[in-house]
Amino acid sequence: MSTTVTLTGAGGQIGYALLFRIAAGDLFGPEERVRLRLLEIPAGIGAAEGAALELQDGAFGLLEHVEVTDDPAVGFDGADHALLVGARPRGPGMERGDLLAANGSIFGPQGRAIAANAAPGVRVTVVGNPANTNALIAAAAADGVPATRFSALTRLDENRARAQLAAALDAPVAEVDGVTIWGNHSATQFPDVAHATVAGRPALDALAERVGDVTAWLDGSFIPRVAKRGAEIIQVRGSSSVASAANATLDHVRDWTLGTGERRTSAAVVSHGEYGVPAGLISSFPVRAVDGAWQIVEGQEPSPWARERIDRSVAELVEERDAVRALGLI
Ligand code: NDP
Repeated sequence: MSTTVTLTGAGGQIGYALLFRIAAGDLFGPEERVRLRLLEIPAGIGAAEGAALELQDGAFGLLEHVEVTDDPAVGFDGADHALLVGARPRGPGMERGDLLAANGSIFGPQGRAIAANAAPGVRVTVVGNPANTNALIAAAAADGVPATRFSALTRLDENRARAQLAAALDAPVAEVDGVTIWGNHSATQFPDVAHATVAGRPALDALAERVGDVTAWLDGSFIPRVAKRGAEIIQVRGSSSVASAANATLDHVRDWTLGTGERRTSAAVVSHGEYGVPAGLISSFPVRAVDGAWQIVEGQEPSPWARERIDRSVAELVEERDAVRALGLI
């Protein structure tokens, strides 16, 4: 058996960090062979072909086949997983409407090509920003593919939040569980530790002992640090986070495919009205993956303080949805 994975933006930075780990078995384990389809725009084909040559030189035993193309029909042919990483970055002077329109012209056709060419059970993970709304556009265009097969990445935000919580409590990150990212993968996201545990103990209790005023610490330190971590990496490293974004993408797809058991994680998935999030939006929630499907974990009712922050991020998603609707993209 083998799994076909299509990667868009395969010639880009995150693509380069993803490809070799997928080929090495970091996605589905050491038994499952993979077939890679690298989709790029014409300007990125050279970089994708170069990566394909290096994949060949890796002599990966699990890698059955690599195809490089700029044709979405070929790129998504038979895809079990589509990782939509390539996106149009915000250029100088570009307004949000321009950015949404530019990405609509990428993700709409990709949604249609997925519906026409991918495997019947295809699962689509959107990484390229604005990820939630790009996923909404692709899902709307993918006639016949249930919207539940589309999700957008907030796992990097969750990993960052878990790591910050672990650091604050001087605990191993493996002992931190149940952190939730709500809303949009943007600066408005709300990283929520209300239901998190550290070594089985409520994180809020442990935090109260360490930092005193927990709300002040969350508002003044934790939330902005997590939400602005991308900018911090750019400032320190001189370029954007790439390996950690690729790592989180693998975490997300692996969990979706292999299941989470009782563990909770975060992903942006289609709302059916859970937690008051308008139905149809692709918003981040606490989720589990069961039998290859995301399930929103219910019963994590937010406090009024948390509700206000969730509502702010969801309002941004509503604005983005209304903007792409006005542009005729959904
Ligand atoms: P990256 O590989 O660094 O990033 C790709 C996308 O991932 C961007 O939209 C970026 O958002 C997003 N992203 C999500 N999370 C993160 C994170 N934590 N850190 C950084 N980025 C994140 O971009 P490159 O410019 O190196 O590569 C993009 C490639 O996509 C190019 O090769 C281009 O040719 C290709 N492309 C392919 C398309 C296609 O296949 N049809 C369409 C458009 C582009 P942000 O912009 O906010 O950083």
